[in-house]
Amino acid sequence: MSTKNASCTAGSDCTRCPDTRMRRWTLALVRRVLQLSVLALFIGTARLGWKIAGEPLLSGDFSASLLAGTVPFADPFAVLQKLAAGHPAESTMLVGALIILVVYALLGGRVFCGWMCPMNMVTDAAAAARSATGLRADMLRLDRRARYVLALVSLIASVITGAAAFEWVSPQAFLWREAVWGVGLGGIAAVLGVFAFDLAVLQRGWCGHLCPLGAFWSLVGNVGLVKPIFRNDRCTRCGDCLKVCPEPQVLNFKRAGQRGMIASGECTNCGRCAAVCPENAIFFAPRFQAKKASDNDTQVNR
Ligand code: SF4
Ligand code: SF4
Repeated sequence: MSTKNASCTAGSDCTRCPDTRMRRWTLALVRRVLQLSVLALFIGTARLGWKIAGEPLLSGDFSASLLAGTVPFADPFAVLQKLAAGHPAESTMLVGALIILVVYALLGGRVFCGWMCPMNMVTDAAAAARSATGLRADMLRLDRRARYVLALVSLIASVITGAAAFEWVSPQAFLWREAVWGVGLGGIAAVLGVFAFDLAVLQRGWCGHLCPLGAFWSLVGNVGLVKPIFRNDRCTRCGDCLKVCPEPQVLNFKRAGQRGMIASGECTNCGRCAAVCPENAIFFAPRFQAKKASDNDTQVNR
């Protein structure tokens, strides 16, 4: 049964409701603040010499970094490529990758994409520009599984070339390296290239179809602890969540009802769906709180 307010003026589109808009803007603001804050910590340490207890606050970049000169962090996908390329398995690198892997697995895997990766700001901007200009058509049709193929190709290319292959061409690596170190035009080219591709060629083209790093985190997301829990008994199938989701293929109501959650690792845990749902049918919690729809729940097959 719908819980929409009787004085509602947004009609059947709850995404236009002022309350919903406020929740969406607040959520977007928190994500932007987090994304920019982490970038600012890297930049402040590299360029302004920020320290903590006499040690560099956060040195390095998103591929490999050191917190307070002590705690290592490393991108596990970059580490996999380095190992495939034959680089020595240094303990700092492995410990750093393990820390990041465990943290993101606990948070839900692809939470890196939704809350941390700076390229997410670019692709969200392209999606907003598409929506503002009414652009709908794609110039390219591409299966979303292409990203997994590219992740595999990255590892094979690392073996062949003896270098972490995707790190050399990754647009987000250009963006964050050059934002931190301030050299060259590669970062600007990466931002403009991804923006133009998502805007003019394919909706959510880079993050939703091509990015091998997003594919890696999607695989981790399959076993992620925190998940969007789905209450099949509350969902009216209004479709508002589908309108705002950057990975709408994960919002399969039948499957979500059966599992009691949005189980796909491709979900970025961005929270947009929960923010717009007028029935509070989606909320975030550890996956073991998911309640499967009962067999006689008729909505599950709708
Ligand atoms: S898909 Fe790739 S570029 Fe997009 S947010 Fe995830 S890691 Fe960043
Ligand atoms: S299902 Fe919800 S949390 Fe997951 S990507 Fe879509 S809008 Fe974001």
